[in-house]
Amino acid sequence: PTPDDVDLAAALKSRFGFSSFRPGQEAVVRDALAGRDLLAIMPTGGGKSLCFQLPAVLQPGITLVISPLIALMQDQVRLLQDNGIAATYINSSLEPNEVGARLRGAAQGEYKLLYLAPERLLQSGFFDGVLKRLVAGRGVNAFVIDEAHCVSEWGHDFRPEYRQLAALRHRHPNIPVLAFTATATPRVRDDIINQLALHEPAVHVASFNRPNLYYGVRPKNKRTYDELLTRAREQSAGIVYCLSRKRVDELALQLQSDGVAALPYHAGLDAEQRRRNQEAFIRDDARVIVATIAFGMGINKPDVRWVIHYDLPRTLESYYQESGRAGRDGDPAECILYFSAADIRTAEFLIQQKVDPDTGEPLADEQRLARQQLRQVLNYAESTECRRGIQLRYFGEVLNGSCWNCDNCRSPRQLQDRTIEAQQFLSCI
Ligand code: ADP
Ligand code: MG
Repeated sequence: PTPDDVDLAAALKSRFGFSSFRPGQEAVVRDALAGRDLLAIMPTGGGKSLCFQLPAVLQPGITLVISPLIALMQDQVRLLQDNGIAATYINSSLEPNEVGARLRGAAQGEYKLLYLAPERLLQSGFFDGVLKRLVAGRGVNAFVIDEAHCVSEWGHDFRPEYRQLAALRHRHPNIPVLAFTATATPRVRDDIINQLALHEPAVHVASFNRPNLYYGVRPKNKRTYDELLTRAREQSAGIVYCLSRKRVDELALQLQSDGVAALPYHAGLDAEQRRRNQEAFIRDDARVIVATIAFGMGINKPDVRWVIHYDLPRTLESYYQESGRAGRDGDPAECILYFSAADIRTAEFLIQQKVDPDTGEPLADEQRLARQQLRQVLNYAESTECRRGIQLRYFGEVLNGSCWNCDNCRSPRQLQDRTIEAQQFLSCI
């Protein structure tokens, strides 16, 4: 069917139960149905999945979805199956005979969507054979690359396997490639287009504004822990981000001893422990999760009411993503960054640790990039301007006027209040 032939709104309602499109979705769906390559950039929670799932159910063949995390695949497939849509996944969690059964099912046209880990597609000649059979059968509608920023070293979750996905385009040049990400920096965007060899892609960029999120920056001092504790006792779900595993463990313990159901999350815990802590948070058995940046992608908890950064984020982009885990349900939520001059020294110290492991020579390019990113974070923390305006400008978006939902818009500060250290750091480069 051509895009105009189908009543998309009716299909949205009957297949997914949604009464209207979210901003930006319909245009992406139409381009996908028209068979174009595309890159869609929408904030986390913006509804990217629907942009390829609705076309998939309306098209005759199968749609292959590349996804970086087993948990993400399982979630999406379960939600699709709940809606009566035939979908399945293949990843390393399955027994070989189960993989075989699912692939045979796919070849027989049993599924509208098949989710795959990237290494699955790339390694085995076996899969190449399956892919050929799918193409020759009812056809492959599209290759969907979810979390497409994983292809870019400039993004925050670089996966080397994603680099090889361009092979899909080269081996099957007539099958559209649809790339989705929440990472909006121009550099990552260009990288995705180049690395995946997208052909004249339609580029859709949705607004990154999250009006329900309040943004504030507060001084980090002796009272900070008490402020955190007050917040943590409110019985609403919240995330505290810290820079180091050690700090995560300490803070989680301290909160526990003050009677808060808080759990730690970082890459130093074993996988089982991480899974348990994450589940406890999602089920509200633990109201608070204290975490490093290891906690994030793929966690879909809509009712997180606050995100506190106890340490400086590494980049403004990671701040946007991490704080953006608050308020996915659209209800008001708060994002607070605590900041002290000592954090600048810690950050600078960490930057100086970026050296070649063999020679001990500083990695000049990495250090330069990290300093530039630190400067952007400090500019944000020290600014007297609308916080939302600064964040959106970073993504190339213009916010007109005040947002009235950040500390600077609600109670303007004086420029003199900036810390001397930050002024020095910002002026010396
Ligand atoms: P993203 O991948 O962009 O982070 P998801 O695709 O996971 O976001 O969608 C986030 C949530 O929004 C999901 O719970 C999804 O069911 C919901 N959603 C998506 N599109 C719509 C819509 N048109 N109307 C209502 N809810 C929607
Ligand atoms: Mg998604």
